[in-house]
Amino acid sequence: MPTLLARNADVLVTMDGGRRELRNAGLYAEDGILKQIGPTAELPATADTVIDLGGQIVLPGFVNTHHHLNQTLTRNFPGAQNNNLFPWLKALYRAWARTDAEGSRASTLIGLAELAQSGCTTVFDHSYVFKNGNNVDCQIEAARDLGVRFHASRGSMSLGESKGGLPPDDCVEEEPAILKDSQRVIERYHDASVGAMTRIVLAPCSPFSVTATLLSVWMTMADPMIVKSTASSVVPILKWLVVPRHACVSMIATSSTKMTAAIQPTMRRIRGHSGSSVKIHARVSM
Ligand SMILES: [Zn+2]
Repeated sequence: MPTLLARNADVLVTMDGGRRELRNAGLYAEDGILKQIGPTAELPATADTVIDLGGQIVLPGFVNTHHHLNQTLTRNFPGAQNNNLFPWLKALYRAWARTDAEGSRASTLIGLAELAQSGCTTVFDHSYVFKNGNNVDCQIEAARDLGVRFHASRGSMSLGESKGGLPPDDCVEEEPAILKDSQRVIERYHDASVGAMTRIVLAPCSPFSVTATLLSVWMTMADPMIVKSTASSVVPILKWLVVPRHACVSMIATSSTKMTAAIQPTMRRIRGHSGSSVKIHARVSM
């Protein structure tokens, strides 16, 4: 069983009920699972991997609960700027539908890297336009390459304009194909075990782009397979990351107001410093 000892951190931020911040502290993990945190003197003396954290701050990794990583490359489309939701979507649907697997991988990698730089180590993504060879596989590959914990959605759109939906017909998929591919990615990637790095979420896009039939079929499909069917039910699994003492941590990319509020005091202090950005030294679950 591989063990990890990270010690001598200037400050270890626990985020526990008492909001303790431990000086000259560290953590000990076995097989990737956190076993102990506390002052360095109280931790085991050694481990398979030992990291010295002198001059650094340790805090739990943040959890991003809402993202559309397939859209990273289209954030600056002039035709989509300064619009409300529907015209914004209509300006971008076809660009997303033309995104191929390579483009999707690049878009996902950039988005995940931005999140990791902000201290985020667990990401839920809602991508829902899978045309032109684009698929969930290339996003999962990108997350694995980067090392973040990834809850990937096999989202979808099936209600085109001709049936009363918002997206153009050539941007939506046939429902049998959606269901078949959803089954495929669940069987190939979904890992329900504790500490899993990859999970699949079934995520039909919206009432104006998916039929009621698909929504109901999807709910029955998700439950027996213990696959989450909405973004809000993603289980946050914290990982610990290490921030250099003089880190400049930018915006916290999460829609979880509870999480944001919880870490604000610490973030205010960290923002007071300037220098390098967040670095993930090791992945440890709790
Ligand atoms: Zn959204």
